[in-house]
Amino acid sequence: MSIDLTTSAADMARARAVIPGGVNSPVRAFGAVGGTPPFITSAAGSHLHDVDGNTFVDLVCSWGPMIHGHAHPRIVEAVRDAAGRGLSFGSPTTEEVRLAETIAGRTSVDKVRLVNSGTEATMSAVRLARGYTGRDRIIKFEGCYHGHVDSLLVSAGSGVATFGLPDSPGITEAAAADTVVVPYNDIDAVRAAFAENEGRVAAVIVEAAAGNMGTVAPQPTADGTPFNRALLDLAHDNGALLILDEVMTGFRTSRQGWFGVDGVAADLTTFGKVVSGGLPAAAFGGRAEIMDHLAPEGPVYQAGTLSGNPVAVASGLASLELATEETYRTLAANADRLAGLVGEALDREGVAHHVQRAATFLSVRFAEGEGTSFADMQAAETFRFAPFFHTLLDHGVFAPPSVFETWFVSTALTDDDFAVIEKALAPAAAAAAAATPPTGR
Ligand code: PLP
Repeated sequence: MSIDLTTSAADMARARAVIPGGVNSPVRAFGAVGGTPPFITSAAGSHLHDVDGNTFVDLVCSWGPMIHGHAHPRIVEAVRDAAGRGLSFGSPTTEEVRLAETIAGRTSVDKVRLVNSGTEATMSAVRLARGYTGRDRIIKFEGCYHGHVDSLLVSAGSGVATFGLPDSPGITEAAAADTVVVPYNDIDAVRAAFAENEGRVAAVIVEAAAGNMGTVAPQPTADGTPFNRALLDLAHDNGALLILDEVMTGFRTSRQGWFGVDGVAADLTTFGKVVSGGLPAAAFGGRAEIMDHLAPEGPVYQAGTLSGNPVAVASGLASLELATEETYRTLAANADRLAGLVGEALDREGVAHHVQRAATFLSVRFAEGEGTSFADMQAAETFRFAPFFHTLLDHGVFAPPSVFETWFVSTALTDDDFAVIEKALAPAAAAAAAATPPTGR
């Protein structure tokens, strides 16, 4: 089986003339794997349909939001209903309050501010942490991605890792100088960073579980303390805050997000993706005493013409209301099933690998043993990924087009979908086995 992407390729050529790289977000461009991304016309349940008439089993899920699958009737109905009542008002709505209450009810945060993207959420949380503490510096981790915020793009994951970019041009030395970067899962490095920047660190920001260097779970410290707990303690010992970035993990890894996994209540938490149901909405929240430093209560300014947009709020609320404990049992079962199939296929072909896991997250590392840092993830046989990915695509399975991304499952996956995935994995694993390192390696 081989798919035809003729019309998508023509659309991509048109796109390149008017959109940089042909895409509105770099990871969509297939830069790390080559070839043409399918141009999507519609999606329903677990399937994407493209302009060439291909159908794919979707393991990208819009990079995380679509836990219920695509075009879920309840979410679509909520969006239609909200849109029919007006698209944007510039004055508060009761539904915004309901969404904020729902987020606060499931997580550790007391108060929530709605924004339009995960990037805005992390940017605003960092500003608030600086405003609250009166300090400038931020500690972040290699390979963690928090959106395209200037100070957070230093040593970032996701597209920055995929394209092997150094820190982005356009970011001033001053912005970069206030960011201290340490290896993920290395608590001693965090301790050393605090010592070197005594009295200057406003916050540590970390993905609650890393999903932007591939999947890398937070590892307990030597004395068995969960990593995020150790970060919280260390931050507080040094007069700083912990910002847990739950844009990816939030409401996907459990009904309470990663907070439901390790119970660590950060000072500030960011949310995106699932909280939006697939429309542009995101949020950040935290302890009331910190959140009350935001305008108009306090002096830290943050605003947005479309923040709390009624259609996006309706979508987010419907997505969260649909998400019962059963939803997460299904997501976990689907992630386990997928991980099992991937592992078995690669085992059969004798490909050295480790299926990286963090709750419902997974990705493949082409090396033996669990990767616990960005360096580990980069040190694997990453050249095996492109042929693996393309063979899956050729057989109707859409996985994330980079080895440094997490695979996302939905509750909509069926036994038939798993049969398609299993069938595709056999030749994909063979292609990975046959891959040779680029010359010069
Ligand atoms: N934080 C994390 C952990 C993310 O994974 C992402 C995006 O993938 C962001 C922040 C940025 O979110 P957005 O792309 O909505 O700006």
